[in-house]
Amino acid sequence: MAEELIPLARPVLSEAEEQAVIEVLRSGQLSLGPKLGEFERLFAGQVGAAYASAVSSGTAGLHLALRAAGVGPGDEVITSPFSFVASANAIIYCGATPVFADIDPVTLNLDPAEAEAAITPRTKAILPVHIFGYPADMPAFERIAQKHGLAIVEDACEALGARHADGIAVGGRGNPSVFGFYANKQMTTGEGGMITLGDGAMKERIDSERNQGRAPDMGWLDHDRLGFNYRLSELACALGIAQLARLEQMLADRARVADRYREALAEIDGLSLPCPDADGDVRGWFVFVVQLPPGVDRDAAIAALAKAGIQSKPYLPAIHLMSFYRDRFGHCEGEYPSCENVAACALALPFHPLMGDEDVSHVAQALKRVAVTALRP
Ligand SMILES: *Cc1c(COP(=O)(O)O)cnc(C)c1O
Repeated sequence: MAEELIPLARPVLSEAEEQAVIEVLRSGQLSLGPKLGEFERLFAGQVGAAYASAVSSGTAGLHLALRAAGVGPGDEVITSPFSFVASANAIIYCGATPVFADIDPVTLNLDPAEAEAAITPRTKAILPVHIFGYPADMPAFERIAQKHGLAIVEDACEALGARHADGIAVGGRGNPSVFGFYANKQMTTGEGGMITLGDGAMKERIDSERNQGRAPDMGWLDHDRLGFNYRLSELACALGIAQLARLEQMLADRARVADRYREALAEIDGLSLPCPDADGDVRGWFVFVVQLPPGVDRDAAIAALAKAGIQSKPYLPAIHLMSFYRDRFGHCEGEYPSCENVAACALALPFHPLMGDEDVSHVAQALKRVAVTALRP
């Protein structure tokens, strides 16, 4: 019998989600209806933010949040090269330039000292990414931003459920913070995103710009600024409301799977595991990314795992070394050594709330074999 494939990620969806979507379908109101505000209020409550604006994707949310923070043509925004490409792309959408700074080799997040050293007279904002759900050092970034008069936008797309040492949930500090609801995230709406924030005027601007620049008090065809169509449908909002109701359980299940992985992988020599929570910061588990021992060929490892029915992938590649970024900005190897070292050996393993202990053991056993057989020639 062919073994079932263990996928990298998998959403948790059941009857509650089906019912919620069917209800919206039957209502006939498929966009800009009552689910939008309800989803926004519930999500803001979840992270302790004053406001939230739902948008069509995390990427759209980053674009609108950067615009609301005042980022425009000619500006520079300092961000992490170790992220999903969307965080840097959104800066380019604004006509601004992403300026990278190296990461902390332990947390894998943008290093505040490196970020401060990258400030120039054109710097407008800092865009820290809470990578793999581990909280970026926001108190440090907030001090730097205040000292230099910069705005902050947080990419929290991987960090729902994470918490800072000061007790504030990621997304709840008042800085515009962007979450994503693609199917591999902690919760999903199929496609979708949310901006949480503490400034009501900023929410008004974002809500207008996601809806073609229409002001809330204007007629249907009146537009007082440039806008986009970044709306989130009622179907997606209903799905999001149903997912929020099971969020705590899904987060607890992810944390359980991470604990199992930690135990099962402990004895592989040279394998580096995700950093444990330290100094009061709490990770919101999104992916389980290991760094392969020196000498292990990652491509060979991925092929060997695939043969055992296990999906895995290099995660993440360094953004500045992607061909578009090399061509456009002249980036090359050696600029951000910590990022490049991690990117060269990082491997995402299957990780989702429905993974059982047997699945984790199976992956761990296969990885153990790989660690001794997939050595570089
Ligand atoms: C998923 C993700 C995004 C973008 O989210 P989409 O909803 O796919 O547009 C942005 N940044 C990071 C770090 C992400 O992981």
